[in-house]
Amino acid sequence: MKPLPRLSFGVGDRFAHEAEPQLMAFERLAAAGVVVAPVWNKSNREHSFIGSEPASVRAAARAAVSARQWPHPWFVDADHIRLDTVDRFLESSDFFTIDVADSIGKPAIDADVAAFMVRHPELATAVPVPGIDEPIALSRESLGAIARHYLLACREAGEIYRHIRARRGDDVVIEVSMDETDAPQTPPQLLVILALLADERIPLQTIAPKFTGRFNKGVDYVGDLAQFEREFTDDIAVLAYAARRYGLPPNVKLSVHSGSDKFSLYPVIRRALAGTGAGVHLKTAGTTWLEEVIGLAEAGGDGLALAQEIYGYALDHVDELCTPYAAVIDIDRARLPSTAEVRAWSGPRLAAAIRHVPGSPDFNADVRQLLHVSFKVAAKQGARYTDLLVANRDIVAQQVTENIYERHLRPLFLDT
Ligand SMILES: [Zn+2]
Repeated sequence: MKPLPRLSFGVGDRFAHEAEPQLMAFERLAAAGVVVAPVWNKSNREHSFIGSEPASVRAAARAAVSARQWPHPWFVDADHIRLDTVDRFLESSDFFTIDVADSIGKPAIDADVAAFMVRHPELATAVPVPGIDEPIALSRESLGAIARHYLLACREAGEIYRHIRARRGDDVVIEVSMDETDAPQTPPQLLVILALLADERIPLQTIAPKFTGRFNKGVDYVGDLAQFEREFTDDIAVLAYAARRYGLPPNVKLSVHSGSDKFSLYPVIRRALAGTGAGVHLKTAGTTWLEEVIGLAEAGGDGLALAQEIYGYALDHVDELCTPYAAVIDIDRARLPSTAEVRAWSGPRLAAAIRHVPGSPDFNADVRQLLHVSFKVAAKQGARYTDLLVANRDIVAQQVTENIYERHLRPLFLDT
């Protein structure tokens, strides 16, 4: 397997124009003493919405790494792939996020569940997990129910992993994601899932469970912070235990599919890492594209005009744009300004509405969420959009770097 460093952070670059300013944020963090591996992630869904190919992500990342002479590891993540979508990513990715959420809950057959219980009698006893006060104590009945619920999903993860290994070799990072489902996975469930994945002999380096609370796209966490902290530190303890007990890679760590901008979780995660020495992979969504819109707005002229136009179009097509993301956005339509109002705004005023500075009086989370799901609108503009990115490269780059460094990497990985 290709080792993933203890700390890694996933960024999206929808239009493949910002890898270099993104990387500059990691450079700044490295200069401050913390090396975090950048991982460029893009899902099959994003590729199909934009009409891009996986090779473009690697090309953009590689160009940035070589232009900046980044001396540390970096990765390209085939995000949320399945057996039917993985092939186009095989050549250009070295990190595969195997998404088996759709198979969670498909009931496994009795004989397979029984065989799992025979293989793992220890899970039906009280399991003392260092770092968790009470042992994890599952009855035979609840163990059987958890195994039945997750067995087929884990088996499918094994099947996809072996498909990748047969075609791509073993020099890759394997993540398994179970976040795109309704119910969060509790730490005891995570322990059973890890035993199931270890049975499949998956060299698992990261796992993305669904955590408690709401992870809406591009805006802050909504949920109980104390409960999240407990769950997160218990998950870390379960991972460390399962790595030893079941022979998973010793560096296996949690992957947080944050959907971007879960600012209130950052101090919680930072504390948990400092307290345990654990690592983390934190994946953000493609919010860098919002920094492009912010930069175009700030630039004024044609850039501002296009940013206003994108908003107007998005507002007219709000249902169509929001429906595919209904589970991960919460837009209060009464708070969306009219197209005429936005057209009258200055560039800095529009930028301030989109830029995620909590507490800023001009920040509008509803505008931000609507624009976040509207990247298809910019994609449809084609060269008109990307030419403006090139023409306004400096101001856009400044937004991109500052956003990732100041609002993400620094609060997550530095104490100050
Ligand atoms: Zn996810």
